[in-house]
Amino acid sequence: MIDFNSKTAFTDRINYLIDGPIAATAEESQRRHYLGASVVGHECERYVQFQLLAAHGLIERKRPEARNLRIFDRGHTYEAKARKWLKDAGFLFGTTRTGRSFQDFGGEYRGSVDDVVTGWREILTRNGVICPIELPALWECKCLGSKYWKQVVDKGLKEYSSTYWGQIHQYMAYLELPRCLYTVINADTMEMHHTIYNYDEVEAQLGRARVHGVITATNEGRWCQRCSGDRNFYKCKWCDFREACWST
Ligand code: SF4
Repeated sequence: MIDFNSKTAFTDRINYLIDGPIAATAEESQRRHYLGASVVGHECERYVQFQLLAAHGLIERKRPEARNLRIFDRGHTYEAKARKWLKDAGFLFGTTRTGRSFQDFGGEYRGSVDDVVTGWREILTRNGVICPIELPALWECKCLGSKYWKQVVDKGLKEYSSTYWGQIHQYMAYLELPRCLYTVINADTMEMHHTIYNYDEVEAQLGRARVHGVITATNEGRWCQRCSGDRNFYKCKWCDFREACWST
């Protein structure tokens, strides 16, 4: 018999009421009809293809858990906070000649950046405080738990995540930005770490070529390469498209 007076049951009942609207709102806002630059650098080309198929409505995306949606929300909240803190410090945000977003391949491929640092407060320069970075710069911000924050700080973004690395290069390429100021916030301790990553043309071209390859293969009805031949490979175990992938 279910004990509705236990602490767990009470929490579960409240969370059930909270999670429903969160999931409904997310489903509405996350329905993308294009391939996003945020996934192009993923280790698995087949995964990128599944994202495109999902955008075309040809395959269902796995519904994210409400807990994970709250983590996404935390990211948005702290991105807004970090932007304000940087503004208060003297950085000015703006736009590029080509805007703050892009699209290519007839709109099938798109990206939208967190922000662009375009200036530095004049009054600070006059008072001898010079801007600590060269401008303009793409600005990207992530809020991560301690374990992952430390990995980004210790290893650098490229080694930490090919997905995030690929993403910033697509943004820099399309928005013609020579560098990126990458801010990572430790969600547990609220430490902030900032790194400048310079634009790498080869990296950007590889990413674009991958998008071209995935779109072409999909239009021709061909499967892209899997990242592993073993469905129990650790990346496949976490993959949202695991069932669909290994039943093809
Ligand atoms: S299950 Fe593995 S091979 Fe298939 S799309 Fe996911 S990561 Fe790639």
